[in-house]
Amino acid sequence: MGLIRHIQESMKLKLRISLLMTLVISSVSYAQESKVIIPDIPGYYTLKGDFHMHTVFSDGHVWPTFRVNEAIRDDLDVISLTEHIDYEGFPNIIDQDYNKSYEIASKAATNKGLIIIKGVEISPRVAPYHHNALFLEDANILPTEYMKSGKAEFVMKDSITHDQLMGPFLAVKKQNAFVSYNHPSWGWWDTKDTVLFTSFHQELLDADILKGVEVVNSGNYNVIAHRMALEHDLTMLCNTDEHYDNHPRYKDTHRPMTLVFVKERSAEGVEEALFNKRTALYFGDYVIARQPEAEALFKSSVKVTTERKLRKAEPLLIVNFVNNSDIPFETKMKAEYDIEGFPMGQVVIPPHDTTQVILKAIWKYPAKTTIKVTVENILVTPESGLETEFLLFIEEIN
Ligand SMILES: [Zn+2]
Ligand SMILES: [Zn+2]
Repeated sequence: MGLIRHIQESMKLKLRISLLMTLVISSVSYAQESKVIIPDIPGYYTLKGDFHMHTVFSDGHVWPTFRVNEAIRDDLDVISLTEHIDYEGFPNIIDQDYNKSYEIASKAATNKGLIIIKGVEISPRVAPYHHNALFLEDANILPTEYMKSGKAEFVMKDSITHDQLMGPFLAVKKQNAFVSYNHPSWGWWDTKDTVLFTSFHQELLDADILKGVEVVNSGNYNVIAHRMALEHDLTMLCNTDEHYDNHPRYKDTHRPMTLVFVKERSAEGVEEALFNKRTALYFGDYVIARQPEAEALFKSSVKVTTERKLRKAEPLLIVNFVNNSDIPFETKMKAEYDIEGFPMGQVVIPPHDTTQVILKAIWKYPAKTTIKVTVENILVTPESGLETEFLLFIEEIN
């Protein structure tokens, strides 16, 4: 075989091998696509949830069993199908039974490790706008007297009273529901208020009804909702509010989700965690959480080891950041020694990988040292990333 021919043959073989590798890799990555790996945190299990979705039992376009299979495909642990109590997209299907969606989904989820929470969406287009009520016992006893017609159309009465709007909220309070403000926006703003947290919301808060707010809806971050959560001490949620199949919208990323830190894997466990505000919102490469959950999640995801090394005469300290989660962390590090190779200490810690940071030159090794870390894609407020530090113990070399 001539040299040229040999090169051509070997290139063909290489091409075939690389094609084969591509097939193998793509099939592996497809299988992994459905797994979302986020560690538990000390004292709690981390559950992946979506608490806002629709089916044909309101104005969605899928059957409840589809939502169950979709959630299992997307590696979720808990979902709620929150049909509108005041709007029936397909009145013949729902036939005035607002518990049906939950019942079909619960049956489909039996023995599949997916928790289904009974919930609804209360959705007037005047203040207080849309809210979810979760952990209901009966969704059929919620008044919607502000509606003129909610059958295949959404028409509210011409003059609506305060009591009519308050009706469903008082009814869900009797069932000890968890109520959250959905997608606060100026979309249906009625010009009486200049803020999205209206006097009606203050009333719901004072009556111990309002507990949460959707800071991320359909993958969109809402900075006003984030501020609202911190100012009024509300549980933060990240939901899809999906009406169709989730997949096309999130095919290049994971499905946005609320991470819930529970003491036990059950509906009661989720309820306790939501009422106690133990959540983190995971969408794209971002996490939003309060300081305790943010820090626990980061420290459970990234473990650190150290080793001494001599490079010719130069003593170094190697710090390995081992990321066991799916989340890439964008950090800014500050150490008591010079950090090699990362200008301004900007270190990205990719998922399921070890990132080596070299501290130099350490002429005298201390027993311990600290690295201060700001994680810029874990937001603890709209303006600031998580700030934490790693205390590094430096072993003696015998
Ligand atoms: Zn809504
Ligand atoms: Zn909705």
